[in-house]
Amino acid sequence: MDRQQEFVLRTLEERDIRFVRLWFTDVLGFLKSVAVAPAELEGAFAEGIGFDGSAIQGFARVYESDMVAKPDPGTFQVLPWETPDGEHYSARMFCDIAMPDGSPCWADPRHVLRRTLARASEAGFTCYVHPEIEFFLLRDLPKDGTPPEPADEGGYFDQASHNAAPHFRRHAIEALEAMGISVEFSHHEGAPGQQEIDLRYADALTMADNVMTFRYVVKEVAIKQGVRASFMPKPFSDQPGSGMHTHVSLFEGDRNAFYDSEDPFELSSTGKAFVAGLLHHAREITAVTNQWVNSYKRLIVGGEAPTAVCWGHANRSALVRVPMYSPGKASSRRVEIRSLDTACNPYLAYSVVIAAGLKGVQEGYELPPAAEDDVWSLTESERRAAGYSSLPQNLAEALAVMENSELVAETLGEHVFDFFLRNKRAEWDAYRRQVTPYELRTYLPML
Ligand code: GLU
Ligand code: MG
Ligand code: MG
Repeated sequence: MDRQQEFVLRTLEERDIRFVRLWFTDVLGFLKSVAVAPAELEGAFAEGIGFDGSAIQGFARVYESDMVAKPDPGTFQVLPWETPDGEHYSARMFCDIAMPDGSPCWADPRHVLRRTLARASEAGFTCYVHPEIEFFLLRDLPKDGTPPEPADEGGYFDQASHNAAPHFRRHAIEALEAMGISVEFSHHEGAPGQQEIDLRYADALTMADNVMTFRYVVKEVAIKQGVRASFMPKPFSDQPGSGMHTHVSLFEGDRNAFYDSEDPFELSSTGKAFVAGLLHHAREITAVTNQWVNSYKRLIVGGEAPTAVCWGHANRSALVRVPMYSPGKASSRRVEIRSLDTACNPYLAYSVVIAAGLKGVQEGYELPPAAEDDVWSLTESERRAAGYSSLPQNLAEALAVMENSELVAETLGEHVFDFFLRNKRAEWDAYRRQVTPYELRTYLPML
């Protein structure tokens, strides 16, 4: 047993923890959990815990369904609240999923990201990310299609004193910090009920685990505060949606490979080629970074979300931004990709983002000039003239582009790639058969 495993077992005993939840993520980004008693853990570290993979979205074909969850002791955390008996805490660990012969499971999103990061590491890079996570606090989550009611009336950066939001954010941040997730900023976002919490940077695998934990913690804390949290990308037609802008940097040892003090924007040639990679492959990776029918309702002009494939410095209409927050500070040079939403699978989304950027670095892609215009205000033909392509306008278009992408197929691996396309096409088909309230309102009286 190694030292981390020993630490886990000792902590369980010292804190009298009765349940350890073993967490992993399915291909669509839903958190899965199996609870084990501490007595089982020594065995779980040695051999893993067997389960039926065919019951998990995207994991296995029925005839090869036996799988093994192997807890990663480095991710051990005690959950910051007691069990219902009011006495005992439980803990969680993320797992890597293996096949019965011990080889990594090709369907495990954590493995997809590990494989991508191993490629980055072969090229000499460690990848750091930090997300700005937006979401809505709502009074309830109606299931019958009636619009939800925001939990507050606040707007951007409002310090509202008579509603749930500031308390909610304080409790959520305390819970996140108690689980080892550092929060950098938090504030009210633009729409009523909309919040943003920005996490402090971490390596990409840790951050993907953190995003999964974040979604769970935020939903739990909301319930405790008598409200509900939703990561749906665009719950309101007339309000901005919720994004997960993601800041990325590559380090070579201690050196930020994106920093160059000589460049006017302090972006190195590696940084430029990385951004060029993000732009070049942007359309192909969008199905993964924005995986739901609803994701594309956010990616429209007017909601502060990107629609055109271009980059800029202060330009918030651009897909990629190279922010100038702390000039001269090498460690903070990073690039921000703004298409992601919080309802993505973070393991897969980080994988395709990093793969696209690395491809740019490895192939030496040329970075086009920065977009100076407000690209939201340009017409489609003005955009084309400026050389900006558009992000896919709906899930069907995104899937059609992804289907021909060698980069995405290689990054996700054949199994995840095929499952994803099949599953998401079915989602699109179910959606496009629907006659919506909008159509009834518009066409019934008119036609
Ligand atoms: N809510 C916007 C989005 O969907 C982002 C607003 C901001 O710039 O933080 O991307
Ligand atoms: Mg924001
Ligand atoms: Mg941002």
